[in-house]
Amino acid sequence: MPLGGGQSIGASCYFLKLGNSNILLDCGVGFQQGVPFAPNFHALLSTPYLQSLAQISQVFISHAHLDHAGYLPDFLLQNQSAAVCMTDMTFNLIDHQLSNFQQGDYSVKRQLLGSVVTRVSYAQQIPFGKFRATFYQAGHIPGAMMTLLECRNRRILYTGDYSIADTPFTSGCRIPEGDIDLLILCGLHARHSSYRRSRGKLPYIIQKIKRLIKEKRSVFYHARQLSKGLELIALLNASLDVPIYFDDFILRLSERLETQFIPVRRENNYPLSVEHKKFPNVVISRDPRFPFDPRYERLDEDFSLHDDFNDTVEFVKRVNPKTAIVVHSPPSLDPFDSTIEQTLMNDADCRTQFVFANDGDSYVF
Ligand SMILES: [Zn+2]
Ligand SMILES: [Zn+2]
Repeated sequence: MPLGGGQSIGASCYFLKLGNSNILLDCGVGFQQGVPFAPNFHALLSTPYLQSLAQISQVFISHAHLDHAGYLPDFLLQNQSAAVCMTDMTFNLIDHQLSNFQQGDYSVKRQLLGSVVTRVSYAQQIPFGKFRATFYQAGHIPGAMMTLLECRNRRILYTGDYSIADTPFTSGCRIPEGDIDLLILCGLHARHSSYRRSRGKLPYIIQKIKRLIKEKRSVFYHARQLSKGLELIALLNASLDVPIYFDDFILRLSERLETQFIPVRRENNYPLSVEHKKFPNVVISRDPRFPFDPRYERLDEDFSLHDDFNDTVEFVKRVNPKTAIVVHSPPSLDPFDSTIEQTLMNDADCRTQFVFANDGDSYVF
């Protein structure tokens, strides 16, 4: 039962009942016009499945993006007995984001997180009574994991956000061997057949920055999401030889990655606070406010670190599950787009039935 992030992005949280176990796959926040909203636990509590959030027994957090992990600290205020699993890197990245909210009860939440979370690693298996969980590298961003749940003879795979292709800081996902009965797929582009990564925003942003620098212009880039500034820095460092300045949040985030042996910075990368900048340059900041300066061109475009449509089709063909529940999957605005279901209907080797699961609806298998 999706409690958020069904056929939309934001507040990803999927309730899964496996025998006596009440499991949450992710626990994110959503934002509507800048105002945060939580997963709809109310809808869950009005079903016969659950009477109180204290009955949640396991939480698996796929990765540190707020739409998958942002509600966890609040959830922990209501339930400290559930087993909460995530990778060490995901823990670090969530902690980094919490440490930047300086108001309210953030220190309580940080402490709770530190005391409750079980940090897992890829390929680790954890038995939970009647089922067993195993974790796999998901690609997408550092620390992202897929979760395989095995219960008697049934095997359920939750992808979280994932990518088959390499991203600036990750290699592609590792798909578990053996049959999968049920795939819970975060299919961001599963309904966007016309979306190709090569035509996506990231190559466009890089090209545009290169062109502006060639014209001796400087660039201000507003990085919207956790690691996006870093991913851009990595790509620019590899292809451009101009100074890059970035804010404190990104600087400390790069330090966290570097302590986990993921190199980010180069000689001509500097903190944004340095007084005398060399021009032309690139400034990357999480803060959209940037003082007007005629030397700078502003770039606000966001980009995706997800599989494109063809990769999503390829992924499902490789896993070849009996059933794929597609979530995190906003509809297309293009009337000529088709869905992964329509594409694979014509594939004789594909045995998969698709369900595009809606928030608040429950599905029994
Ligand atoms: Zn997401
Ligand atoms: Zn993500």
